[in-house]
Amino acid sequence: MRDPRDYISARATAVDASGIRKVFDLAAKMKDPINFSIGLPDFDVPQTAKLAAIEAIESGHNRYTQTQGIAPLRERLRRDLSAEVGRDVGEVLITSGVSGGLFLAILSVINPGDEAIFLDPYFVMYKHLLTLAGGKSVAVDSYPDFRFHADRVERAITPRTKMLMLNSPSNPTGVVMSQQEVNQAVELARKHDLLLLSDEIYEPFLYDDEGGKKPTLASPARLYDKTIILRGFSKSHAMTGWRLGYAAGPEAILSQMTKLQQYTFVCAPSPLQYAALKALDVSMDQAVADYRRKRDLVFNLLSRKFEVVKPQGAFYVFPKAPAGKTASQFVAQAIENNVLIIPGNVFSERDTHFRISYATTDQKVQEGCEILNRLAG
Ligand code: PMP
Repeated sequence: MRDPRDYISARATAVDASGIRKVFDLAAKMKDPINFSIGLPDFDVPQTAKLAAIEAIESGHNRYTQTQGIAPLRERLRRDLSAEVGRDVGEVLITSGVSGGLFLAILSVINPGDEAIFLDPYFVMYKHLLTLAGGKSVAVDSYPDFRFHADRVERAITPRTKMLMLNSPSNPTGVVMSQQEVNQAVELARKHDLLLLSDEIYEPFLYDDEGGKKPTLASPARLYDKTIILRGFSKSHAMTGWRLGYAAGPEAILSQMTKLQQYTFVCAPSPLQYAALKALDVSMDQAVADYRRKRDLVFNLLSRKFEVVKPQGAFYVFPKAPAGKTASQFVAQAIENNVLIIPGNVFSERDTHFRISYATTDQKVQEGCEILNRLAG
């Protein structure tokens, strides 16, 4: 007789998500912690979008949509993105979160044995999805400044390399790629004929303006048409539970992603697509300004005691654990003191840094950083 465990595929077993699970287990035991672990904004979905979602449900937008998403949303996103990058971005597919876009992109392009390069530290999903596809993750160390070092990336390229994955602003470091770094990434992609996948989910959260001008993201899509752009509404509009994202890029690849969506997710949530279209007209500038202030607060506090790279986007900071301690040891100590942070080894081959999400109230940021500074001695 086979035990239920005996039915598990090698594919599922190969995905090791134990690191993050350990953190969740620890968190479950904490009572009202200062929670620096959450990867989502602390503001609520804009009221306009909530009302639009209710209106969409009440007016009957409750059925499947076309696999690729509703036309007005796709057209609007294609127009906006094309204006931003200065050329037609290609097809647009509405996905179930950026996670959905990542899943479909990776499954559409990665054959068993194909290699994909991304910087370490990385967003955890990259590694696991590549494993599911039978691909090989090649994580290129970006310590201690977490910047794109073209020489290191080029050394990692082999004849099996198919894709270079970029994530700017980055989870977990908050680092934003400069135009020069993006140029170098594009140059490498051209030279080695690679596909670029640009995860731009944190795009609106950019804090370093040039001469008072609103910052814009240096996207490789401006320069290189073999780029798949992934963006979404989870972070920009605090809709993590709505499961809405979008992918844009070459028709040949997007049509394969659409085909796979048809047999997996089917479509992104119908009424919420209508609401997202309305959400695009809501200014999120105030939220971004609030997060810039929190970024300054957390950086100024922590740089008193920690080695920390100033983040330029997203809502994370990735300081180094105090000397003589692994990140996991320091995280255990922080948790004993009621501050929940995530050890770097969840996002990295190294266990030297820890991630703080400062997407919480200024008061909690202040209190939590003071505790961490005290623990750093
Ligand atoms: N990419 C990055 C870099 C992320 O941090 C996240 C969410 N934490 C995602 C993709 C997935 O976001 P979602 O599926 O909620 O759109």
